[in-house]
Amino acid sequence: MVSYKELGLVNTRDMFAKAVKGGYAIPAFNFNNMEQLQAIVMAAAETKSPVILQVSKGARKYANATLLRYMAEGAVAYAKELGWENPQIVLHLDHGDSFETCKDCVDTGFSSVMIDASHLPYEENIALTKKVVEYAHQFDVTVEAELGVLAGVEDEVSAAESHYTKPEEVIDFATRTGCDSLAISIGTSHGAYKFTPEQCTRDPKTGKLVPPPLAFDVLHEIEAKLPGFPIVLHGSSSVPQDEVDTINAFGGKLPDAVGIPEEQLREASKSAVCKINIDSDSRLAMTAAVRKHLAENPSHFDPRQYLTPARDNMKKMYIHKIVEVLGSNDQA
Ligand SMILES: [Zn+2]
Repeated sequence: MVSYKELGLVNTRDMFAKAVKGGYAIPAFNFNNMEQLQAIVMAAAETKSPVILQVSKGARKYANATLLRYMAEGAVAYAKELGWENPQIVLHLDHGDSFETCKDCVDTGFSSVMIDASHLPYEENIALTKKVVEYAHQFDVTVEAELGVLAGVEDEVSAAESHYTKPEEVIDFATRTGCDSLAISIGTSHGAYKFTPEQCTRDPKTGKLVPPPLAFDVLHEIEAKLPGFPIVLHGSSSVPQDEVDTINAFGGKLPDAVGIPEEQLREASKSAVCKINIDSDSRLAMTAAVRKHLAENPSHFDPRQYLTPARDNMKKMYIHKIVEVLGSNDQA
C-alpha cells in the first residue's frame, strides 16, 4: 500500500472547489508514454496550472501499471525541478470499470479514481459507485462517477448513442453515492470522430463540418439542482483542423474528423464544469508532428529526432488549452 500523499500528489477536492468558484476548469490530460508526460508537466509548470494526469485501463495495459505509477511520482519531482514550488498534480484513473481496478489504483498511489458504471442500470450504478467511494474515502482519495452515456470510442469504452444525463436524477445519485464529482453527458463524445457528417452542418465558407452544439440547458439544470457540485466533461477534444490537415497532407487518412468547438468548452469552463478531459488532441498533435518530420526527413531514424517536435507540438497544444480555453493558468 502506498499513499499518494507520500508521492507528492494531491486529490481533487480543494482543486475543484477553487475551480468552481473561480469559473475555470482543470485540464485532465491522458498519458501513456514519457513524451506526453514531459509535455504535460512542462506546460503545467510553465503556466502554473493545476493538472490531472489521467491513466486509462488501456494505458495501464500499454505502458504497464507499475511503470505509470512511478512516472507520475517522477512527474512531481520533475515539476519541482522546473521551478514549480508546490505542484498541484493529481494522478487519476480514467474509466475504472470495476471495484477491483479502483481499489488497486487507490492502493498504489492514485489520488483520484473514476468508477464508470454508467452503462449499468441506475440502482447498480449507485451500488457500485458507493462501494468505491466507501473504500477510496478511507484513504482520502476522491471519486468521479458518471451518469448518462457518452457516444464514441475511447480505449475499451464505447457506445453507439449518447443519452443525456437526466437532471432529475443527479441529487439522488450524488447524495446516495457520496461521489466527489460527476461526469455528465451533454453532447460531448469520445474519440476523434465525435459526430457523423449527418449530425453536423457544413460551414458554407470553409466546407468544414460544424458539430451540433452542447446541451447547455441540461448543464444549467444540473447546476441548479446541485449548486457548486463539481461537474466533469469527458470527450472534450476539439480535434484541431490544422493538425488533421497536417496528418492528411503527410500520408494520413482522417477524413471528416470533428471535435467540440473551443468556444463551447470555454463557456462550459465558466460554469460548475471543473474538469475537462482531453486525449485525442494530444494524439493528433503527436501524430501530425511525427508524420511531418519523417516525411521531410526521410533519412532520420533516431526516435529523438521525430519525438522532439512531437513533444514540442503537444506542449504548445496543452498550453493553448490551459490559457485560452480552460483558464486554469496561475491557479497553482
Ligand atoms: Zn471518457
